[in-house]
Amino acid sequence: MALIHKAPANAGLSTTRTPSPVRAAGLLLGLTLLATVPLSACSATGEADPLPTSTLSAASTPSVDAHHTPAQQPQAQRTRARQAQATLTAFVDAARRGDAAVTTSLVSGRDPTFATRTRVWADNLQGIDWAAMTWTVRAQQAPLSAERRSALGADAWVQEVSVTWSLPGESRRAEERLWLTFVTDATVNDVTGAPGSGTGAPTGSGGTVRLAGERDGPSRLTATPLWLMQPVRLYTDDGVRLLTDADAGHAAHDWLRIAAAARAQTISRVGAAARDRETPLVVEIPQSRTAFERVLGVAENSYATVAAAAWPMGTDTATAPIHVVVNPESSARLSPLGRKILLTHEAVHVVTRSPGSAAPTWLVEGYADQIAYRAHPDARVPALTRVTDEVQAHGAPTDWPAESDFAPTAKHLDLAYDLAWTACRFIAAAHGTAGLNRLYAAVDHGATLEGAADRLGTSEPALLRGWRADLSRLAKR
Ligand SMILES: [Zn+2]
Repeated sequence: MALIHKAPANAGLSTTRTPSPVRAAGLLLGLTLLATVPLSACSATGEADPLPTSTLSAASTPSVDAHHTPAQQPQAQRTRARQAQATLTAFVDAARRGDAAVTTSLVSGRDPTFATRTRVWADNLQGIDWAAMTWTVRAQQAPLSAERRSALGADAWVQEVSVTWSLPGESRRAEERLWLTFVTDATVNDVTGAPGSGTGAPTGSGGTVRLAGERDGPSRLTATPLWLMQPVRLYTDDGVRLLTDADAGHAAHDWLRIAAAARAQTISRVGAAARDRETPLVVEIPQSRTAFERVLGVAENSYATVAAAAWPMGTDTATAPIHVVVNPESSARLSPLGRKILLTHEAVHVVTRSPGSAAPTWLVEGYADQIAYRAHPDARVPALTRVTDEVQAHGAPTDWPAESDFAPTAKHLDLAYDLAWTACRFIAAAHGTAGLNRLYAAVDHGATLEGAADRLGTSEPALLRGWRADLSRLAKR
């Protein structure tokens, strides 16, 4: 499933490798679900709505806790949730139209650092031409730490919020669950005039509900949209949407060009294996490794060596948009050719929607490398050298690379990728590139390898024997 590229320690080009897809995706889902709600409670459905949408209602509020359904919630909690929704809606509305006076008025000054960060939110909300955007307050609330309660006041509370969004050309929506902190300021909103103006969130007691924080939730390991962490700009090209540093300038245009070529080369080669040729390739390049890991929703430092990930942006891998998220630190060690290989490999994962694929990891990763190396044959040399050295030293492997060979901690991760690639390379040599595409598609759709091989007029044991013979020939050169 997951599809991650680990940056080469030797700053080489094509030895970008990935940890176990299955494990990584499982980790993402597991962490997300722990912190949020059952998938059946997700409410992000339907067509793109005008901005902003989503109001809290009994009908749309999911049951997030069997012991504490919205209907059973104390009235005070439901009231706070409604007020939080009104404040969020007003904030997003004002940000979208560039009304800084109103957005500022809806953010509490009790934590000045948060107030600064929300100016970035507002700028990004205004600056990007969103295809869809919703902010929906969920039923679940959480307590603050004693320290934060002391800093923000006894009236502060934390509310779960679902954010969905898509970029121009995307039909699927990313979804993240956030925990936002709110406070009730006794003072009347002097810009909106709340209470009574209808734009703020009057409490009915002369105060105003304001945003007060975004880091007080029960789990820090939830995915966070890039555009809530740093100033971003959307760069677009034919079929590519690049979300990156607002000041990226020349570098952004380089990435944009590489991504556009990667997508075109992928689409022209994957044939029957394509699942989505239409959706733009969305590439996100955070400005730091920490932001990269927060976009993925993984523990800090756990993906430090990963160069990029093709990542389902939501809790349901089957429906989520898949974005390529680049680690700015490890990808910085790549050569220009290495970047091309990296993005082409990841583009294959996106166009084939391989997160969630039934195919074994060796086929998913080997196939992506095969497409990338066909596009950039010069980049194959290090992989061929590693495989040749391995077979000369230890003979050809007796079976396809195992799932465990692709674990992040696997000792010979690069070699696992290289061997997987040579397996796909052999299948393409023996049965044509269209044959490899068809075999991949069949397994991707649930066929066994034996069944898929049968459709090519061969068998799995024959493919395995052929690959091993090919490796032995390679080693004798
Ligand atoms: Zn991969």
